[in-house]
Amino acid sequence: MDFKPANNIQDLQYFGEFGGVNPSISDSSTYTFLSAKTMFDTFEGNADGCYLYSRHSSPSNLYLGEALAAMEGTETANVTASGMGAITGVILELCKANDHIVCSRTIYGGTYAFLKNFTPGFGIATSFVDITNLGLVEAAINEHTKVLYCESVSNPLLEVADIKALAALAKKYNLKLVVDNTFSPLSITPQILGADIVIHSLTKFINGSSDTVGGVVCGTQDFINALRDVNTGACMLLGSTMDTLRAASVLKNLRTLHIRIQQHSKNAMYLAEKFESIGLRTVYPGLPSHPSHAIFKSMLNDEYGYGGMLTVDVGSLDKANELMEMMQNKNLGYLAVSLGFYKTLFSAPGSSTSSEIPEEEQKKMGLSDGLIRFSIGLDADIERTHTVMVDCMRAVGVL
Ligand SMILES: *Cc1c(COP(=O)(O)O)cnc(C)c1O
Repeated sequence: MDFKPANNIQDLQYFGEFGGVNPSISDSSTYTFLSAKTMFDTFEGNADGCYLYSRHSSPSNLYLGEALAAMEGTETANVTASGMGAITGVILELCKANDHIVCSRTIYGGTYAFLKNFTPGFGIATSFVDITNLGLVEAAINEHTKVLYCESVSNPLLEVADIKALAALAKKYNLKLVVDNTFSPLSITPQILGADIVIHSLTKFINGSSDTVGGVVCGTQDFINALRDVNTGACMLLGSTMDTLRAASVLKNLRTLHIRIQQHSKNAMYLAEKFESIGLRTVYPGLPSHPSHAIFKSMLNDEYGYGGMLTVDVGSLDKANELMEMMQNKNLGYLAVSLGFYKTLFSAPGSSTSSEIPEEEQKKMGLSDGLIRFSIGLDADIERTHTVMVDCMRAVGVL
């Protein structure tokens, strides 16, 4: 792939009100109109460029949205208060009672809970399938299906979706392909591969400082307008709007994303290779042993690598817990959920972020008790990190 997502972010030029190098922060919930007629037209959606009320849109949120749209190669974007705010808005915009979704069975726990427990109450049914098996995906599509939903790199098993092939299926059956790209910003550009709508939890790599939650929906102008429609739009009416002060701070962090992703990927690749070579059961899409390595490689934007996420199966939850506590005591990282921080974060997904998924289903999808999910940090000295991690593994009997 030769798409240059970071260039697209950097080519956007927004000067602040007084020539500031950062755009001025908009600090208002409501906006004045010079004429009453313009206010009416704005409500009717006929006054481009006018701000009405900040749940609808605001300058700071638009700046961040446009930068993320440039990164993802979509016409535009809408930022939201959290990743779940983006996901729930998109699903409820696209699906009404009697509609059906075909969804990857290995997805973020909150998304799984929403589709499994919440949306059936609104008459929206979901079939969960192994997204890497295109035959199963196609077989699950029925006359009510509206949406094909997946994560480009799945949480927590790091399965890789073949976005081009899924886009072809979506086209064939007239579905919307929605891709959550939270685990692989910059590395994968789903829109180029045929995705209709791209979602991120900004909470993770994109903001990168673990100081806020946030989300974004990237898509066509028509779809984003529909989400924001005053009378019918899911984002407008459900109200998960990002605060404008926060949008300004996320935009500043976004500008260094390319450097951070390169370092996350470099460090994760280093550890994954070492771990695998000493016999640890390691899953990392950058390893040739990963079942979808070739697919990831075919989708990869050069120079960003395979991302910062890897998993190691240490055999049992007790061993996993012991190891994680010891690594935290040695200051190798933090025993915490979430990802994309400068410091390595680790957790056992079976008992934390994926605990919404019933144990039996966890087993079926290969999510074992002893699995540790790592979000590898920006460590300057990854060789030393590796040495101390291996010491910890020896001490708890994993090696
Ligand atoms: C964290 C996460 C979400 C949810 O995002 P929030 O910002 O926590 O609401 C959705 N998808 C993936 C893949 C995530 O990792």
